[in-house]
Amino acid sequence: MGKLLIVGTVAFDAIETPFGKTDKILGGAATFIGLAASQFYVESAIVSVVGDDFPQDYLDLLVAKNIDISGLEIVKGGKTFFWSGKYHNDLNTRDTLATELNVLADFNPVVPDNFRDSDVVMLGNLHPNIQMSVINQMEKRPALIILDTMNFWMDNTLPELMEVIKHIDVITINDEEARQLTGEYSLVMAAAKIHEMGPKYVVIKKGEHGALLFHEGNIFFAPALPLREVFDPTGAGDTFAGGFAGYLAATNTITYENMKNAVIHGSNLASFSVEKFGTERMENLERSEVNKRLHQFKTLTQFDIEIS
Ligand code: AMP
Repeated sequence: MGKLLIVGTVAFDAIETPFGKTDKILGGAATFIGLAASQFYVESAIVSVVGDDFPQDYLDLLVAKNIDISGLEIVKGGKTFFWSGKYHNDLNTRDTLATELNVLADFNPVVPDNFRDSDVVMLGNLHPNIQMSVINQMEKRPALIILDTMNFWMDNTLPELMEVIKHIDVITINDEEARQLTGEYSLVMAAAKIHEMGPKYVVIKKGEHGALLFHEGNIFFAPALPLREVFDPTGAGDTFAGGFAGYLAATNTITYENMKNAVIHGSNLASFSVEKFGTERMENLERSEVNKRLHQFKTLTQFDIEIS
């Protein structure tokens, strides 16, 4: 069992979907990643920042999931990062209504001493300079560094982002962002270009159409589980990344073959996350439910065809 270090936003989200609307609720990339990774009982810590407007209940929830929050700074008099988004009817696309960095704007991350030797580092979505600073604080090169990002950082901090990308092993990115980053429409071409930027492994997330893993000319595909109802896709990408990173940290085996399983675990957990608003579904998710759905994934994808 390896150690997992997570960096990313811990946030307030206000979400609007065709099914309803929320006020400020718990969100943030690191939050979703941590909740997903906690399914694997891995030793994990979050490095992030919030203001003192952040409720104690939310902190308690993270601690109850065995996530170390000694690297989660609470800024006195500060306001927590806030994001607001509105989904279109297809639920695959959304408009960002607000991104207020607040305390994130001048955050200097400090990795807790006992996590400087983490095996897996999951750099969740936030400013690339913060992601880079976390890499620089590690006492030895982690076995695996995974990075997730989004168009906001490509639009505003591209040179810094390109610098971090040089230092990582795996990038998880959605299809539109892969196209934006590379200028290539074909995802195969986009993955090839991203390999040239640094990462040996490229995971392209395609929302309800699953995810692709690229490595040394090989491609593996994991579907998303077809669901009766998708309620709120917020955090699906982060939940995927948390499942992926959590599984790899728990199994401590960094190979292409094991990464295929990690992609399936990520997709499986993401299928739960979208069933309720925000983090609600992930807060009480049981191991038995997770395993049941893994069986569904198997039957969805297994076939026995004879090729002469
Ligand atoms: P996802 O739906 O996986 O893209 O993740 C949505 C989560 O990312 C929300 O909980 C937001 O709080 C968080 N988020 C939105 N915009 C950003 C941003 N620019 N940087 C970091 N986190 C963000």
